[in-house]
Amino acid sequence: MSDWESVIGLEIHAQLATASKIFSGASTAFGADPNTQACAVDLGMPGVLPVLNREAVSMAIRFGVAIDAEIDRHSVFARKNYFYPDLPKGYQISQFELPIVGKGHISISPGEGEQKEVGITRAHLEEDAGKSIHDQFPEQSGIDLNRAGTPLLEIVSEPDMHSAKEAVAYARKIHSLVRYLEICDGNMQEGSFRCDANVSIRRKGEQELGTRAELKNINSFRFLERAINFEIERQIDLIDDGGRVVQETRLYDAERDETRSMRSKEEANDYRYFPDPDLLPVTVSDEDIALIRAGLPELPEQKKQRYIDDLKLSDYNAELLTSNRDTALFFEAALAESPELSAQLVNWILGDLAGALNKAGLEISDSPIKPAMLTQLVARIADNTISGKIAKEVFDAMWQGEGSADDIIEARGLKQITDSGAIETLIDEVIAANPEQVEQFRAGKEKVLGFFVGQVMKQSQGKANPGQVNAILRDKLK
Ligand code: ADP
Ligand code: MG
Repeated sequence: MSDWESVIGLEIHAQLATASKIFSGASTAFGADPNTQACAVDLGMPGVLPVLNREAVSMAIRFGVAIDAEIDRHSVFARKNYFYPDLPKGYQISQFELPIVGKGHISISPGEGEQKEVGITRAHLEEDAGKSIHDQFPEQSGIDLNRAGTPLLEIVSEPDMHSAKEAVAYARKIHSLVRYLEICDGNMQEGSFRCDANVSIRRKGEQELGTRAELKNINSFRFLERAINFEIERQIDLIDDGGRVVQETRLYDAERDETRSMRSKEEANDYRYFPDPDLLPVTVSDEDIALIRAGLPELPEQKKQRYIDDLKLSDYNAELLTSNRDTALFFEAALAESPELSAQLVNWILGDLAGALNKAGLEISDSPIKPAMLTQLVARIADNTISGKIAKEVFDAMWQGEGSADDIIEARGLKQITDSGAIETLIDEVIAANPEQVEQFRAGKEKVLGFFVGQVMKQSQGKANPGQVNAILRDKLK
């Protein structure tokens, strides 16, 4: 394994979040009944003409500006010809020689404290095809053309990645970026964000690229990592056994965790690309680009730096909070109520909340605990209404839907006991009940203090203020 270096380049298809299709007015909403969202243009009826969706162009430029790419002032749509039942026109409108977004780059963080630049070759606009459905009608296939004509941004990377881990970090970074830019919803189950991975190997130190296989059908980051790792090992074994890698497209089978040959490059189509005579070239002015640049939201890198500079968060926590836009939005909403509690909020969001969400398989946007609820909980620890330990109980109750922190503290009688008279009474009882331990403490066995604190806390059902308990106990035991 160590003699070899793997080389990976990704092609990512991000479905642009426009309301209508790239060349027609039909809706792009997901989940409608088959073929109810395919108009005459999407169906490729004779005599219809495509009209370019301005918003799709503007979203592509937004992406280009965010990765520091050259935006081509003049780009052209081309026909990519091939036959398939879910492609009624017999060609897909795409961009070939003059894509709208040229060379750019993005910085990824494959591991804690690691940083790496990945080149982006190009990003171009194209329309999606329809869908063939093979599992609904016995011995027949169905065609759903709702997806035909949905705008896609195909983002092509340079072959700059050298491990599955780097490839996943890159894919996650692009995923995060398109969501920040609000140009794609990033939903991988619904196919709004799809990755193809090109994988080859070469001997370490070699400059020339090896022959690559292209892996398709990958719909999660976990599978992306597994598919690439499987493929690297397959290629190494193949060469070690005296074989050679052939250029081909392979499908990843998640159930068997392996890749299988789909078609070799020899059988691949010649797409006969040519400029689409139905569409004018797209011209973009400097003013268009300046306007889009001015409208960019705060991007993950900037947000992270702001958290580090202004909120004094660690690099690591700032990275965790900003890598997912929804997490950052949650944090900022929680913070808006009580900016002075930032450190505690970070701990709860990255700790208990992240853990609970992970366990339940929920996204933070679907959290049953809303930002303001978390802020209230943290505020009740800060103002000594409850201890940190009781807070965990309140957190669980909020998660179960029992209401706000204040409601739960009230209903369950969890208010911390800070009345020193009441605490003294509890302590006196515990001391009277444990004469042996008192002797031990007085003989110099300091550790016994922990036992007494535990007993008092237990007697108070966790509600006594631990700081006060400690101080009063020390006094009384002496
Ligand atoms: P195609 O259009 O046939 O898919 P491209 O040349 O556009 O081919 O490359 C597609 C992707 O494959 C790019 O992301 C590129 O970085 C990557 N790639 C090209 N050659 C190799 C290679 N030898 N090993 C790994 N990745 C590669
Ligand atoms: Mg390709």
